[in-house]
Amino acid sequence: MTTLDDLPLREELRGSSPYGAPQAAVPVALNVNENTHGIPESVAHDIVTSVAGAVLGLNRYPDREFRELRQAFANYLGHGLSAEQIWAANGSNEVLQQILLAFGGPGRSLMSFTPTYSMYPLLAAGTMTRWVAAERDERFELSPETVRRAIEVEQPDVVFLCSPNNPTGTRLGLDTIRAAYDAAPGMLVVDEAYAEFSDPGTPSALELLPGRERLIVSRTMSKAFAFAGARVGYLAADSAVTDALRLVRLPYHLSALTQAAALAALRHSDEMLAVVDDIRQQRGRIADGLESLGYTTYASGSNFVLFGGVPDTKVLFEGLLERGILIRDVGIEAHMRVSAGSETETTAFLEAMSALTS
Ligand SMILES: *Cc1c(COP(=O)(O)O)cnc(C)c1O
Repeated sequence: MTTLDDLPLREELRGSSPYGAPQAAVPVALNVNENTHGIPESVAHDIVTSVAGAVLGLNRYPDREFRELRQAFANYLGHGLSAEQIWAANGSNEVLQQILLAFGGPGRSLMSFTPTYSMYPLLAAGTMTRWVAAERDERFELSPETVRRAIEVEQPDVVFLCSPNNPTGTRLGLDTIRAAYDAAPGMLVVDEAYAEFSDPGTPSALELLPGRERLIVSRTMSKAFAFAGARVGYLAADSAVTDALRLVRLPYHLSALTQAAALAALRHSDEMLAVVDDIRQQRGRIADGLESLGYTTYASGSNFVLFGGVPDTKVLFEGLLERGILIRDVGIEAHMRVSAGSETETTAFLEAMSALTS
């Protein structure tokens, strides 16, 4: 049988593993921070109509610059953004990869603060960008001093700051983002995949864009928009940044079907985001429930909760799985991460936790 070792694979990819969150068919899947609420039926109908219209034009390549979609994202984000300041791709993972293709690469480095999103080192490896992991403060917080010091020592070409951070839920203050920008010699990317789940009034790094041409704010439709399967991520930045990304994207990378589906979903953003309030409530129930069972939880601005005090993560993982519940071992000792599901799913999780906690 042929193995990877038999192939002329790039040296730095030898021994590495692909992204691998388990995909098991279980009744209660709370392991990859999806929005477990489905798309409202009326919205689904409009998406189908929009996609059906696009099907008739599939003999032609799609709008390479996806101008209508960029305008729709600009309108959704507000903050005085224009279509030229928006970029999109097949999930924010592809957006982040394109950023590294343009601003990272051989001889360059990407810094982030671990524990953080497990895809960052994989994206670095795939683009031959050197990965630099810096440490967080107590309880996974990140102060302006900590980021400034780490960036000044390493002088990375690209910095990724995830806020709220996956897998810890930690929010970053704008003071920390400003400090990182001022210290960074290169690009600063704030990954706001979970921004919509933050409490109302929480400031976004979008506020900091004016006058900061090395700042990029990345977003996705995969989480709050319940659109993970459609694969749509996007960013806001100076229009020169989006011009730079046009140098590395594949031509026509966003299919006409994707553009049509995303446009229809954005026309209904209020309905699509209506469940966010409930998800925040379930997040609160999870934190309170786990605390009362004796676990430690961390303040979360996202749709998941990290908890510690787990004597054996494998045993807990298996115990929950036997009850049809999937959560995530994120590789932090004695800690696990659970996504906030619907009220019923959350109840099932808390009841199972109570049964499994002695
Ligand atoms: C889920 C997630 C994303 C979204 O990835 P997509 O490719 O848009 O589905 C991006 N960043 C972080 C930190 C995430 O957790």
